[in-house]
Order: sequence, then C-alpha cells, then structure tokens
Amino acid sequence: MQQKVVVVGAGLCGTLLALRLAQRGFQVEVYERRADMRKTNMSAGRSINLALSDRGMRGLRLAGLESDILPLIIPMLGRKIYPREGNAQFMPYSGRDDEWINSVSRGGLNVLLLDKAEGTGKIAFYFETECLDVDFAHKSMRVRSAQTKEVRVVDADVFFGTDGAGSAIRQTMLSESARLRFNFSLQYLTTGYKELEIPAGQGRTFQLDKNALHIWPRHGFMIIALPNLDGSFTVTLFLQIAGNPGFESLRSDTEIRHFFTEYFPDLTELMPDVLADFRANPTSSLGTVKCYPWQVNGTFLLLGDAAHAIVPFYGQGMNASFEDVVVLDGLIDKFGPAWAKVFDEFQTVRKVDADAIADLAVENENEMRDATADPVFQLKRKIELQLEQNYPDYFSKYSLVTFREDITYHDAMVKGRKQDDILMAYARAAQSMENVDLKDVLQRLKALQ
Ligand code: FAD
Repeated sequence: MQQKVVVVGAGLCGTLLALRLAQRGFQVEVYERRADMRKTNMSAGRSINLALSDRGMRGLRLAGLESDILPLIIPMLGRKIYPREGNAQFMPYSGRDDEWINSVSRGGLNVLLLDKAEGTGKIAFYFETECLDVDFAHKSMRVRSAQTKEVRVVDADVFFGTDGAGSAIRQTMLSESARLRFNFSLQYLTTGYKELEIPAGQGRTFQLDKNALHIWPRHGFMIIALPNLDGSFTVTLFLQIAGNPGFESLRSDTEIRHFFTEYFPDLTELMPDVLADFRANPTSSLGTVKCYPWQVNGTFLLLGDAAHAIVPFYGQGMNASFEDVVVLDGLIDKFGPAWAKVFDEFQTVRKVDADAIADLAVENENEMRDATADPVFQLKRKIELQLEQNYPDYFSKYSLVTFREDITYHDAMVKGRKQDDILMAYARAAQSMENVDLKDVLQRLKALQ
C-alpha cells in the first residue's frame, strides 16, 4: 500500500524535501502555517536574500533545478570591505576562478521550489494550516486552519519536521523530553539584526559593485549588503541589542541618524529611507538551536532549522538544510523506505556536521565584523589566495566549508582551524607579502596531515 508522507513547513528545506520525495514516487502532503507566498506579499524585513553556495547547489541539482536557479542568482566573487578610514578593498572568496557564492532572493527561491513541487502532481499543499503538536504513539498531528479555526487530526506513516527554528514538532519532543531523553539548547547572541535597503539607482542600476558581498566592519558591529536582481541591495545591520551603540540606545530620530552618519557616512548617502526603514523593520534576535535526538520511533524526523538553526555569519543555514535533503536522499537509496534505519543513520551522520557548522558560524561573526579590518587577517587572506592560485590541493577554511561539498562540515572545521592557526601566526610574523615564502608556508600546512 502507498505510504502517506507528511512534510510540516513549506519553507526552503520543506519544499525541496517534498519535491525530492515526490520525484522518488511518494505521495506527499505539505502543511504550511503561512498563506501561499505565490498569492500574497512576503513580509518585509526578514532576510530577503541569502548566500547560496556549493552545498545548497548540490541539493538543487539533486532535484534537477540547476538551470532553473541560474536566472535567480547574482554571483558574489568576494567581500568588499569598507574600513572606517581609508579605501575600500576587495577580497576574493577564493584564489580559484570557479569558486564564488551567490545572492538569491529567499522568496524567489521558495516560489521556484513550490512551483516545481506542485508540478510533480504528487503533492497536496495545505497552506494556512498550522501544526499544533504531534502524537508520537498514534503517528498523528493536530493542525489548525487559519481560515476556519477548525482543528483536525492528520495521520501518516511518516512525518518530516521542516517547520523552522521554532518547530512545533520539536516543541512536542521537548514537552516529552524525559521519556525521549531529548536534549535541547537555544543559545542567543547578544547581537541582533535589522534589515534595511539600498534602493536601485536610475534605470535599475546597482549603486555598488553588483558582484560582491559588501561589509562595513566597525569593531563590535557591522553592516553587510547583498545584491538583488532589481538593482537594490538588502542591507543588514548587526549590532548589540543592549549597550551603546546598541539597538536599545537608538531611540530618537536624531540618535538613529547620528549613528549612521557617524559610522557609515558614505553608505548612508545611498540609503535615503534609512530612518523610515529602521523604524518600520523589526529588530530580530540571533541564536543557535542544538538538539538530539532528531527522530522519534522511526516516524518523526526533524531537518533543516528545526533540527539545527544557526546564526547567519557563515551563510550556511539554508545550504546545510539543503545538504540534509541530499544526505537523507542517499540513505533512502541505501535502505529504501525503512524509515527507522534511515532516520537513525541520518541523525548519527548529520549531527556532528550540524554542530560543526553551528560553531563555525558563531566564530565567523568575529571574522566578518572585526578581523576583516585587521591587517594581520588581511595578510593571511592574501597568503591563502596565493596558495589557492598556485597549489590546486590547497583550500582555505572558508573554501573547505563553502566550496567543497565532498568534505563534511566537521572535517572542514577540523582541518580549517589547524590551517588558520598556522597561517595567522605566519602572517603576524611576516607582516607583509614580501616576507612570505609560499613554499615554506605550504610545507608547514602539509605537516598537518
Ligand atoms: P524556514 O525557512 O524557516 O521554513 C520553515 C517553514 O515552516 C516556514 O515556511 C514556516 O512558516 C513554517 N512553519 C513554522 N511553524 C509551522 C507550524 N507549526 N506548522 C506549519 N508550518 C510551520 N542561510 C544560508 O545558507 N545563507 C545565508 O546567507 C543566510 N542568511 C541568513 C540571514 C538571516 C538574517 C537569517 C535569519 C538566516 C539566514 N540563513 C542563511 C539561514 C536560512 O534562512 C535558514 O537556514 C533556512 O531558511 C532554513 O530553512 P527551513 O526550511 O529549515 O526553515
């Protein structure tokens, strides 16, 4: 008999997963709390665009979407750094010509996935239908329709919880934590964020270099900007919530204006609506969710942010969620729909990688916000770029994490951290590129293996 498969949450991970399961022949039901985003306006001010890189691309490729995604992305070849004083500097992401990351609209990508998923004819979508909780013993969940307020019970053979960082399925696991021996932590950063915008110039032109991720590092806080297809840039201010400067100390119009003109004078000129945007858009928190186990009874499995929400400083949350789908798909290849085995293997192999990228993402806040303005770090990046240009076997930590879908996050972290220690010490001693002997550096790095 045909199995009934339910996916909870039609965000990025859930729609890719549903699409892939339908491609494999499963009949899928998808329950999504929000309205169908193809028929309503996306709410503004919540991570409008994202950096898509190789691990995420691999997930899209698995579902046959590699050419569909191309019109939606803008390559970002490196970071453009704007110090408080002095000239802007471009730092490529890699020394190799074929390695870059891509800016993609969250809404555009989600719509593509929804269209493709619907196009399979094997998926029933229930929008504006929120999962309230699940019943592990009876293989069911309660859902409530936003329109009718009716609550009903949905049964299935298997449930995938892709309902994001605030997952209702995970919440039920937490409420039965003693019985399930379910561990959970949510670690907030003291940094929060707010989205702003650089509008397009005349004739939809880009007011900054289109093919870069722009960073204004300011020791302890920063602004970043990613390009959108319409010529605008989505700008994100990452700032302490408390303290000065901090979101809580930016209350009056004068305080807000002064903050921007004091720390970001050139950028502020490109944002005529900065005050209105600052007032209109929410200040949001950032945190890391770690939990385990991710599955119950071989019937319920968490994936994506529901299992491992991470802070955005490595640009990997969505990429990791898409990689979850790839890993799960490989296990279905191996074991078939023997869900207990598939889920058990999935959480065993994937947890260590989810923890690795979670920790790397927290560390990378410092790199983006402070180190990018540090001359020793800048020299270290120059050495790495030259190594990548001259030695095909060398990959920086950033490249291992971002461009090497054949290496796990955990292995990338372990190798990358060791390389970083050596390179930072070398750069500190060398002080300038003239004193760098690339062969010597490479030998030191090779000695690690
Ligand atoms: P989500 O995209 O959050 O989707 C969850 C879905 O479930 C939503 O549609 C929601 O409405 C639905 N839902 C929730 N609760 C219920 C319920 N009870 N019942 C039914 N439906 C429900 N990642 C990158 O790879 N690169 C980046 O550059 C990047 N930048 C980011 C910047 C910011 C500021 C933030 C906050 C995140 C960023 N991320 C980035 C992370 C990325 O957004 C997430 O990792 C990704 O969205 C996870 O996908 P998901 O499907 O698991 O969760």
